[in-house]
Amino acid sequence: MHKFWGTFLSLVFIIACKQENQKSTENSKEEKAITQIILPEKQYGFTLENFIVTQDTVRKGDSFGKLMQNNNVDYPKIAKVSEKYRDTFDVRRIRVGTPYLILKSKDSLEKAEVFVYQNDLINYTVVDFRDSVSVYKEKKQVKYVMREAAGVIESSLSEAILDQGIDYNVTNNLSDIYAWTIDFFRLQKGDKFKVIYKERYINDTIYAGAEPIEAAYFEHNGTPLYAFAYESDSLKNIVDYFDDEANNLRRTFLRAPVKFSRISSRYNLKRRIRYYGYKVRPHRGTDYAAPVGTPIMATADGTVTESTRKGGNGKYVKIRHNGTYSTQYLHMKKQKVKRGEFVRQGDVIGWVGMTGNTGGPHVCYRFWKNGRQVDPFKEKLPAAEPLPEDIRQDYFQYIGPQKVQLDCIEFPEKPGGDLLTLN
Ligand SMILES: [Zn+2]
Repeated sequence: MHKFWGTFLSLVFIIACKQENQKSTENSKEEKAITQIILPEKQYGFTLENFIVTQDTVRKGDSFGKLMQNNNVDYPKIAKVSEKYRDTFDVRRIRVGTPYLILKSKDSLEKAEVFVYQNDLINYTVVDFRDSVSVYKEKKQVKYVMREAAGVIESSLSEAILDQGIDYNVTNNLSDIYAWTIDFFRLQKGDKFKVIYKERYINDTIYAGAEPIEAAYFEHNGTPLYAFAYESDSLKNIVDYFDDEANNLRRTFLRAPVKFSRISSRYNLKRRIRYYGYKVRPHRGTDYAAPVGTPIMATADGTVTESTRKGGNGKYVKIRHNGTYSTQYLHMKKQKVKRGEFVRQGDVIGWVGMTGNTGGPHVCYRFWKNGRQVDPFKEKLPAAEPLPEDIRQDYFQYIGPQKVQLDCIEFPEKPGGDLLTLN
């Protein structure tokens, strides 16, 4: 079956490459446009020139009430915000360092009429004091720009990627996708990669990070390996990466117990920590940083053997998968499963928290083999099931254009040279 598709698709590629290139030129015009910074007259839905505008960040000792009083807002209105709109905007929770905007009347009173609190790069909260008070949350418009990149490794993957001004998360993402199939500690000079992903831009101009990789190509030791992100109902809506023959790139275990996370610390028996005077403090787990409350998934089917709270581990769950392997998930905010319960791969077993010994919200994922903690990425584990026959056709149709696009990306002429993106 896939032989047929393979031949069929490669024919399409040859025909399509040129067209793709033309498309690239069109895209490049589009990309140039976004680098032109035009200061919008309208921000957060307000025409700024109608107001006296103050822009600042919350400082230590600031309170919402104080800020508003300093800007001549009547006390009853301030009280109304803090009492009636707590669900939308909890004034007691304003954070030091967060930017805000005050729009004041252009008369002698200079009264604050609007307060805009910038929760993060995308989300903001508006307090409108005109007429009766109103408070609401909004999102800035996010534009997604397709980006292609290719590189040849001179010393390290992260260097090859960073040299080209690509988001650090793309490196992380790429090594995560190939975590089971390529040993990233043994990359060779001359190994090559190509990636397709999207970048987020706010108001067309402000860079706000990279989306997960959609398609990738990695050539290690001269052996090519494709990867395509694919999600389907029959895969429990977990995004998995498959190669050009619909083989799963991961092993019987999920790569990570959390979606949309990054590895903040790897398994490392020789880890040295400044806090401990650079003494060796082995790290026998893989840390995945994610916000508090992020669901934690079982990485494989199994039976819960522990769901408890203990010392530095905090709240944790341990699952026995078979006679050889168990996995453990530390620092949970709360567990969702009890001892003795059977769980399936991908089931939520708890939520990311900060219980036990931890500097920030993350899940410390520990992989046990015959009673010893090992690095799962160094283990020879059986491959996960390839895509079921009934969704293969859909998969090959889906990856067809992406493979064309990947194949049409050229490597930089000089190793580690210029980035071959669309811009
Ligand atoms: Zn850890």
